[in-house]
Amino acid sequence: MRYQAREVGVDGRVRLVLEGALTARDRVGVQDFVLLENFNSEAAFIENLRRRFTENLIYTYMGSVLVSVNPYKDLEIYSPQHMERYRGVSYYEISPHIYALSDNTYRAMKTSRRDQCILISGESGAGKTEASKKILLYYAVSCPAHQRMASLRDCLLQSTPVLEAFGNAKTLRNDNSSRFGKYMDIQFDFRGVPVGAHILNYLLEKSRVVHQNHGERNYHVFYQLLEGGTEEQLLHLHLDRNPQKYLYLVKGNCPRVSSMNDKNGWKALVKALSVIGFTEGEVQELLDVIGSVLHLGNTQFGEEEDGQTYVTTEMELKTLTQLLGVDGAALTEALTHKKLTANGEEMISPLTFEQAGAARDALAQAVYGRTFTWLVEKINQSLALDGSSVIGLLDIYGFEVFQHNSFEQFCINYCSEKLQQLFIELTLRSEQEEYETEGVAWEPVQYFDNKVICDLIEEKHKGIISILDEECVRPGEACDLSFLEKLEDTLGGHAHFVTHKLANGKTRRVLGREEFRLLHYAGEVNYTVTGFLDKNNDTLYRSLKEVMCQSTNHIVEHCFRRGELVDQKRPEMAATQFKNSLTKLMETLMSKEPSYVRCIKPNDAKQPGRFDEVLVRHQVKYLGLMENLRVRRAGFAYRRHFEAFLQRYKPLCPETWPVWQGELAEGVSTLVQYLGYKPEEYKMGRYLVLSEYPVPEEIGVIVIQA
Ligand code: ATP
Ligand code: MG
Repeated sequence: MRYQAREVGVDGRVRLVLEGALTARDRVGVQDFVLLENFNSEAAFIENLRRRFTENLIYTYMGSVLVSVNPYKDLEIYSPQHMERYRGVSYYEISPHIYALSDNTYRAMKTSRRDQCILISGESGAGKTEASKKILLYYAVSCPAHQRMASLRDCLLQSTPVLEAFGNAKTLRNDNSSRFGKYMDIQFDFRGVPVGAHILNYLLEKSRVVHQNHGERNYHVFYQLLEGGTEEQLLHLHLDRNPQKYLYLVKGNCPRVSSMNDKNGWKALVKALSVIGFTEGEVQELLDVIGSVLHLGNTQFGEEEDGQTYVTTEMELKTLTQLLGVDGAALTEALTHKKLTANGEEMISPLTFEQAGAARDALAQAVYGRTFTWLVEKINQSLALDGSSVIGLLDIYGFEVFQHNSFEQFCINYCSEKLQQLFIELTLRSEQEEYETEGVAWEPVQYFDNKVICDLIEEKHKGIISILDEECVRPGEACDLSFLEKLEDTLGGHAHFVTHKLANGKTRRVLGREEFRLLHYAGEVNYTVTGFLDKNNDTLYRSLKEVMCQSTNHIVEHCFRRGELVDQKRPEMAATQFKNSLTKLMETLMSKEPSYVRCIKPNDAKQPGRFDEVLVRHQVKYLGLMENLRVRRAGFAYRRHFEAFLQRYKPLCPETWPVWQGELAEGVSTLVQYLGYKPEEYKMGRYLVLSEYPVPEEIGVIVIQA
C-alpha cells in the first residue's frame, strides 16, 4: 500500500497518510483558509465555510486568526476532555478550536513573557460573548492553580452571569445582546497561574432602562427578579410578578423570550453574587435599587390648571422613597421642580409635565447606569491581584443596524470602526515586522483603510463628535436639528457622510429630514438625530442629585457623590467620554500581542443549520477576511520556531530521529527536504521556518503503529 506522508498525531502515535485519503477534504473543506487552492476566490472561501458549517465544524483558521460561525445550537465540543486535547498542542496539529487559540495565546504569554490580548469581533449575534466565555472557561479550568486560587477561579467565572443579567438584553438581533463593552485583563504569575483579573466596562446603553423598541426587552435582571424572586422579596419590594404592570418593561411588548429561562437566570445571578462575595446586605440594597427603577417607571405626573406639575402616583412614590432611602418630600420636589443659580442666587422653577417625565427617566437611567459601574467595581475588588503577565480579552458590542438607529448605535458602530482600524494596523504591522526580523522579502497587500471614517467621527473640531459637543454647549437655540444642519455644513462633501440635502439644493428622498447616513466599513447606517443632544449631554437636574446624595442605601450613596455637586467643571459629554475611553483601550491593546476571533452570523433568524450565503458574504467582505487571507498568502502562512518544528516532526525522517545532534537550522532543513518541500515552498528565517502549508493534516489518516 502506498502512503504519501508519515505524521505524528496529538497522541504521539505515528500515522501514515494514505494516498487518496485526503478526499475527506472535499466534504469538510480545509481547516485553514490558507490551504485553499483558489485563495483569491471569495466563492471558494464561502463554500469552504459552508461545507464546514454543514459538518458542524464551526471553526476555521486563517493563519493565526480563528474564524467562527455561530452554530445556533449546542455542540458537544467544549467538554473538559476537549480542553485536555488542546492543552499544550500546537495550533495546526488538531482541528481548529477556540481552545486551541486560548492555549496558544497562553503559551505565547508564558514563553515570550509578552502580554497578549484576544480581540473578538463580529456583528451583533455572531457569537462574541459565547467565544469570550469559552476562553475564560478554558483559562479558569485548565491553567495550573493553587488551592487558594480556587476562589479566584469561581469569581472569574461567576462575574459573567452578574454582568449579563445587568448588561445584556434581548434585541431584534440577539436574544442575549451585550449592551455594554467589556475588556477583561486576566493576570498570571510567573508560573502561568491565574492570580487576578480586572474588568473595564464601556458605555452601557442606558436608554434601554426607560425605553425599548418593539420586540426588544429591558435588561434581563428585571424579568429575572419578577420571575425568580421569592415571595418575601417581591413583597418587600412591592412588586408584582407580572412584567406588564411596569411601564419600563412594556414598551417592547415582549415580556418573554423563548430561548431564555428567567427563573434559572435569577438563580444563577443570586448564586453568582454570593460566590463573588456580595454580603446579604449588599444584595438586599441591590434589589432595592432594581425595584426602585421599576417604581420610578410607574411614577406618573398630572398637570394642574395653572400648569403646575404634580405626582399622581402617591403610593408608588412612597415605595420609591423607601427603597431608595431618600426623603419623600425632597424627591417629589426634585421630580417636579428644578433649581437654577443665577447671579449667585438660587431660584426654584417648576418643571413642565414633559420635563418632569424626562427628569424621572434621567434619574432611572442614572441610578441604573451608576449601579452597573458599582457592580463592576465590586467584582473587580473580588478579583484584584496583580500578576506578572496578562491576557486581555475584549468582548465589545458588535456592529448593528436597526430600522431606527440613534445615538447608541452611533457609539456602538464607531467602536466597531475603531476595532477594525486596530485590526488593520496590527495585522499589517505585525506581518511586516515578522518578515523584517526574519529577513524575508514582502509585498504589501492593499486594504480598505477605514481611518477615513474614524476621522469623520472623531477628528478634533470637525468630526461628528466635536460638532455634537459644540451644539450641546450652545445655549438657547441648539437642538437636534440644528446639530444636523451643522453636520451638513461641515461634512456635506464627505465621501462617507450623506444627508437628504443634495449639493444642488434638492433633497434626497431616501433619507428623512431628521436623518444622516454614515457609510461605515461594515455597511450603510441611517441615524435619526432625535435625542442626540440629550443623550450626549446626559444631565441630571442638580436637585435630583442632591436628593440621591443623601440616600441611606449605600449603593445609591456611593453612586452619587457629594463631590459632584461642588465640582464646577463641566464633566465630559457622553460621546467624548466614550471616545477617550476607546482611545485608551486602543493603546492598551496596541501594547499587547494580539490574536483574533472573527465571528460570523450564518443567518438572521437565529436558527441552526441555516447558512445564508448573502449574509455571510457581506460579513466576509467587511471583516476584510479576503484581504487578510491575501496577506497571509503573500508570504508564508506557517511559521514555527526551529526547535519546536524539529521536536514535533523529527520522527518523520530517519536522519533526525530519534535525536538530531547538529545545529537546529540544519536539522530543520534536513527535515523539510526529506518531507519533499520544494525550495519555493519554504523559507528559513533567523529563528523560524516559514512554509506555505503545514505538514499534512490529520484528515484521512490511519493509525498503523502504536
Ligand atoms: P452582541 O454583539 O449582540 O452582544 P454577540 O456576538 O456577543 O452579540 P452572542 O451573545 O455570543 O453574540 O451569541 C448569540 C447567541 O448565539 C447565543 O446566545 C447562543 O444562543 C448562540 N451561540 C453563539 N455562539 C455559539 C456557540 N459557539 N455554540 C452554540 N451557540 C452559540
Ligand atoms: Mg455579546
